[in-house]
Amino acid sequence: MDLYGGHINKLIEELSGLPGIGTKSAQRLAFHLINMPKEKVERLAATMVEARTNVRHCKECFTLTEQDLCPVCANEGRDHKTIMVVENTRDLAAYEKTGKYTGVYHVLHGAISPMLGIGPNDIRLKELMQRLQEDINEVIIATNSSLEGETTAMYISKLIKPIGVKVTRIASGVPVGGDLEYIDEVTLLRALEGRTEL
Ligand code: ZN
Repeated sequence: MDLYGGHINKLIEELSGLPGIGTKSAQRLAFHLINMPKEKVERLAATMVEARTNVRHCKECFTLTEQDLCPVCANEGRDHKTIMVVENTRDLAAYEKTGKYTGVYHVLHGAISPMLGIGPNDIRLKELMQRLQEDINEVIIATNSSLEGETTAMYISKLIKPIGVKVTRIASGVPVGGDLEYIDEVTLLRALEGRTEL
């Protein structure tokens, strides 16, 4: 017996396809949406479509932005010869919040994970290597201290070293497996200052 009807089932199915949303949460969200005023649901749907339409990748560092260049890359006051490599835009935001990092970034959009079938070609590594054809002083690898983050850091350092660009890794004062975005600013700065050459 189909208790919910096609539309609710479809909504639950779509919602449960989102990261971190299991069937139970999807059901809860679906019923919440259905009980919301129709205008509110329309506004939410429109906001989602607008964000998807207007947000793109910075053509320099590949973070999410609404311009060709993100505010960091567009800022001539930043040190464009120091590139910090992070896994995602949230990590970039975490470092920006410290207000102390003056270089630029490169956003990989993921990390190498043989277990999940994510290889070097599935993240923005090629684009990083292209940027290194310019005159770069240092690449700071700030991927997470998870297995995937460490694997990615090792892989990148092996790629970059032969080019002769200085490669450093942030200190591992960062909890293992911890997402960078959840770590407080003091810890982030300590990790950055304590970075070591690979
Ligand atoms: Zn950028």
